[in-house]
Amino acid sequence: MNRFAVLLFLLPLLVFSYPKHVKEALRELAPGVFGVFGTYEQVSRKNRGFISNAYFVITKEGVFVVDALSTYRLGKELVETIRFKTKLPIRYALITHYHTDHFYGAGALKEVGALLIAHPWSEDYLTSDASKRMYEARLGLLGHKLMRGTRLVAPDMTVASLVTIRMGGEVFEVHHLCKAHTDGDLVVWMPRRKILFAGDLVFGGRVPFLGSGNSRTWLLCLERIREMSPEILLPGHGEPLYGKEHIMRQISWTGNYIRDLRSVVRRLYEEGYSVEEVRKRANDEMLKINPEYAQLSVFFEVNPVNAYYVYFEIERELLEEQR
Ligand SMILES: [Zn+2]
Repeated sequence: MNRFAVLLFLLPLLVFSYPKHVKEALRELAPGVFGVFGTYEQVSRKNRGFISNAYFVITKEGVFVVDALSTYRLGKELVETIRFKTKLPIRYALITHYHTDHFYGAGALKEVGALLIAHPWSEDYLTSDASKRMYEARLGLLGHKLMRGTRLVAPDMTVASLVTIRMGGEVFEVHHLCKAHTDGDLVVWMPRRKILFAGDLVFGGRVPFLGSGNSRTWLLCLERIREMSPEILLPGHGEPLYGKEHIMRQISWTGNYIRDLRSVVRRLYEEGYSVEEVRKRANDEMLKINPEYAQLSVFFEVNPVNAYYVYFEIERELLEEQR
């Protein structure tokens, strides 16, 4: 190999390396508003589970954090990242939903005195068998070293519909809009600054995961987000979204995907296909409606899983309609 060929071979490695510390993924998004951005992947040892985003807002009286990342260790790095920017107390840590990649780092925030806020659904989740199975699965994927110190921490305060928190001249409205990605999603709205921390309700360029919430009411949630008319939308995964038009387009993408999948699954269900057959046909049927779905990140892996879950939702809905 000549020198040029060696360089070409090494280039992808030089361009992309996983952050060794969360601080390396830090960006200022608006004055006083910061985010750390995980890679757009499934959890692996390579990415250390750093696949989701977390945010923090520095006010004159303290820090408001949104989400806690995937492990205690990443949560600790998040605290160190905040400490790098300010010595003010970390007063609140809001968990948008109790999925592993958003709350497993919460212990590190609680340790430094943050009040943990989540939806009451988190308490059902923590006592469920599913949460134990998920923990074992994460341990298997990441190993003891990366998972060290990770505990399933319960919230200190729950929000079932709306709570407004004022701190240091900023207003944080914590809303449960409706059941969507999970049965207990929360979003944080800063009304004066028109910034929305959307958790996993809106995905930019990625297929949303429909396996543990309600796809029908998710569509209603998206309408409520539209009405809020955010100028900056900060998602649980992927890039921050700026500008009303761009945000509306991404909301439409998420909504269209959910609507199309529901109609595909409903049709196949009514034609008598089994859940296994629906799962197998889901990708082809969706691509017939819109070939651009193929470009969405993780479409081919996640879409059949979504179809599987939506099948049972549609079944429940149809039974209800007949009653
Ligand atoms: Zn999630």
